[in-house]
Amino acid sequence: MDGIRNIVILTGAGISAESGLRTFRADDGLWEDHRVEDVASPQGFRRDPELVQRFYDARRENVIAAQPNPAHAALARLDEAWEGELLIVTQNIDDLHERAGARRVLHMHGEALSAWCLACDARHRWTGTLLEGPPCPACGEAALRPDIVWFGEMPYRMDEIFAALARADLFVSIGTSGAVYPAAGFVQQAKSARARTLELNLERSQGSAWFDETRLGPASELVPAWVEEMLG
Ligand SMILES: [Zn+2]
Repeated sequence: MDGIRNIVILTGAGISAESGLRTFRADDGLWEDHRVEDVASPQGFRRDPELVQRFYDARRENVIAAQPNPAHAALARLDEAWEGELLIVTQNIDDLHERAGARRVLHMHGEALSAWCLACDARHRWTGTLLEGPPCPACGEAALRPDIVWFGEMPYRMDEIFAALARADLFVSIGTSGAVYPAAGFVQQAKSARARTLELNLERSQGSAWFDETRLGPASELVPAWVEEMLG
């Protein structure tokens, strides 16, 4: 596409679903049969830390067992080849973008394979269990929690995201309903920066009206085709 140098890509549940990872479903408020307020809120963690640690221990195992799909691979190829600015902002907590080879990835909702120490604020790559209260490798306190942005908490690195949107020539939303703020506002930010906007999604979303173009279908088909267009 002509005149495009800076690209911001937002990815959501739809791209990980094709790798077998299930996420929170807004329609019934459940995530793997748990009420979202029980497993994805600071209040839920205070009430029953063991339930929450068990839940994310299981998510961590699922992430490790999952494999990137052709949509992740195509985005990694674009990241490697694209000489302009590019930022993949993901709502997903898995590391499938990185394992496919992408480098310019920002996890706005945290990461399953990261633990956050509430005593010293350090973050550590974590692939095992947090259930038994292991000591923080930095300070030794047993104060590690999943490094996940829960409901009522501020998504990570919003300043960087908005700065990238302000410079964007193209904003692409992949596999996300566009229904949840602040991500739902990204397309509006991109448009006010005069970026072109493209939605790739399984079905038309609540945010579809904001996009210049919407393409409907599975990410594993739409994303490789779009990347092919971009790289010519
Ligand atoms: Zn610590």
